[in-house]
Amino acid sequence: MNQAGAVRVEIVPDSGAEADRIAEILREAHLRGGAEWQQLAVICPAGADAVSALAGRLSAAGIPVQIAGDELALGNEPPVRQLLAVLQSAALLADTGQLQPPTAERLLRTPLGGLDALGLRRLARQLRLRASLADPDAFLPASGSLIAAELVAPELIDDDQRADSTELDALISMRRLLTELAGLIKEDADIPALLWKAWSATSWPRRLQVEALRGTESSVRAHRDLDAVVALFDLAGRQTGQHGSAGVRALLAEVQAQQIAADTARESDPRRDSVAIVTPYRAKGRQWDLVVLTGLQEGRWPRINEPGGLLRADLLGPDGFQPPETPAERMAAERRSFLLAASRARKRLVAVAIADPGGEIEEPSRFISELGVDVVERRPESLPTTLEDLIALLRRRATDSSLSPALRQAAATELAWLADQRDDRGRALAPGADPHQWWGLRGITDTGRGPSVDKEPIRLSGSKVEAILACPRKWFLEGPAKGRAPKNVAMVLGTLVHELVAESALTRTPAETYSQRLAEIWSQLPYEAAWYAQAQYEQAVEALRNYDIWASSSDHAALVGVELPFQLNLELAGRTVVVDGTVDRLEVDSLNRLRVIDFKTGNQARSDAEVLEMDQLGIYQLAVREGAFDEATGGVRELGGAQVVYLKVPRRDGPAVRSQPPLEPSGPTWVHEHLTRAAEIIATQDYYANVQPRCRSCEFRLGCPAQSAGGEQE
Ligand code: SF4
Repeated sequence: MNQAGAVRVEIVPDSGAEADRIAEILREAHLRGGAEWQQLAVICPAGADAVSALAGRLSAAGIPVQIAGDELALGNEPPVRQLLAVLQSAALLADTGQLQPPTAERLLRTPLGGLDALGLRRLARQLRLRASLADPDAFLPASGSLIAAELVAPELIDDDQRADSTELDALISMRRLLTELAGLIKEDADIPALLWKAWSATSWPRRLQVEALRGTESSVRAHRDLDAVVALFDLAGRQTGQHGSAGVRALLAEVQAQQIAADTARESDPRRDSVAIVTPYRAKGRQWDLVVLTGLQEGRWPRINEPGGLLRADLLGPDGFQPPETPAERMAAERRSFLLAASRARKRLVAVAIADPGGEIEEPSRFISELGVDVVERRPESLPTTLEDLIALLRRRATDSSLSPALRQAAATELAWLADQRDDRGRALAPGADPHQWWGLRGITDTGRGPSVDKEPIRLSGSKVEAILACPRKWFLEGPAKGRAPKNVAMVLGTLVHELVAESALTRTPAETYSQRLAEIWSQLPYEAAWYAQAQYEQAVEALRNYDIWASSSDHAALVGVELPFQLNLELAGRTVVVDGTVDRLEVDSLNRLRVIDFKTGNQARSDAEVLEMDQLGIYQLAVREGAFDEATGGVRELGGAQVVYLKVPRRDGPAVRSQPPLEPSGPTWVHEHLTRAAEIIATQDYYANVQPRCRSCEFRLGCPAQSAGGEQE
């Protein structure tokens, strides 16, 4: 490393500019110098906080980074803080039955709670309204207290009530989660199980996954959040023997103390093409093409203060207390660490320090003069260094009527070139450069030119009608447009549980006896993490156990059949509509009427009110009424209603069960009305966006015309 320009020292005005400049140096080396990310490193003096903070800034700037487990200040990572806040609150609830107002508000503002500041205010308004309607003369407590009380126990809105608003929906979900976690804590559940419950209870993991796979700059942040969660699970997995609220407290203390062993497997994973952020100690024995040194301020590097803190833990050696280092020895050690860090660069070394004219930051380190090169003052350039920034700049130039025609034409030519670039599978490399992708330039879609749909008959699936009516746009993008991610291994759980439950009913064998078979199947599923596979397996066994409780306690006089397919031909508003589906279970109740059963393996149960007009159950009942199962029932059509059994949602006496009353024995019903509306949407191809409480977890929120700012705000 002796050619000209191989060593550079740069001075920037503040810490914000320092992180921006480092991001710029790394991006230049990657984009213009052709270096792989993994050939680049940033070395900063010891301190997990500093490493973590720098990693956060670089991630936010779109640089993929990796940190060793013991240099990742887990407690500084937002997703870790948020998960721990939920666990801590649940432990508090289990121990004292109370939540403090600021804690309650903070919880609802985490991604698990899903509200922002505005949402929180709207929630408070709705609760106040409900409280004053319930008792007009009552003294209303402050908003925070009202929210905290409602999170602890339902006073103003029950879990089973229809929420009618995103905010109340968020409150109910958070209350369910806290209650379930507090219940598990009281039962002395172990820490990984508690953590898994908190992590998997909402759509947050799915949102992060979608974001991470999107391949945009914000994906870097999502990857980093997922890494932090994985590191937290690793840590929790090592806390064997920790249970209940004592275990939660131990985990919190562990995270705060940063006693995390290095995860060398992840650190050395060659598939992770990312910039290493390390301390000099961890840089030992490694080299990179480009090394950026940072943290070069007096007092930090060299660190002049006494190390080891009040307890002087640094003096503890294998043979007891050692004599303290002299200042000269300490300075020599700091210099050695600096030289070690500088020598890690194979081709280029850049040292970045801050010279703060306001004097709030210490002087640049004395070590930079020892590199023997001139100091250059730098400010981060405002030129774009990411593809998105470049496209945005060109678009602004191309459409800015105040610029010269020649400049606008040049910008348009660059955009056209970018829009033509393809990868080796023919996919656009810069889709944002194509004007066809820009908002507001397209005409309104002529539904007559949409994907072709058979005029007659209209075909509907019994399990999809509800999705069509809830939001036609979402249904279309997920279904016909095939915009949904393919089934992942976790979704196999539902299919397997359904199959085993059906077999259990036919063979009259308890479903739990199939857990051994389930274990054999499970061992062949390609789960990426053993703890996740184990958690999923335990949930599947729990679902089978819940089924056994349900099957033994209900009045199931006689089984007609399981997994029964049907087809229903209807004439609705002048259209022929064919509805098909499969009923999980059809049985005869104690009054000799036919009852439809549907099993669900989701983590949340609908409320009683929601199930009253649950389309899927209504359609199955209609199929029974119209004779679709005559062959199996011997012509009996009298309805005894329907039930939905939530096998993964435990209640005191078995799984959560919701019932739907029998349909009228003849004539039009609410089911006909819903089917008519769904058929109308399919026939007219009017896939409009319908705002609903589940918009929060919708994968197609980005760009949804029904959301504010085109859905770009989370
Ligand atoms: S965000 Fe809401 S309105 Fe938009 S597509 Fe998704 S569910 Fe429909």
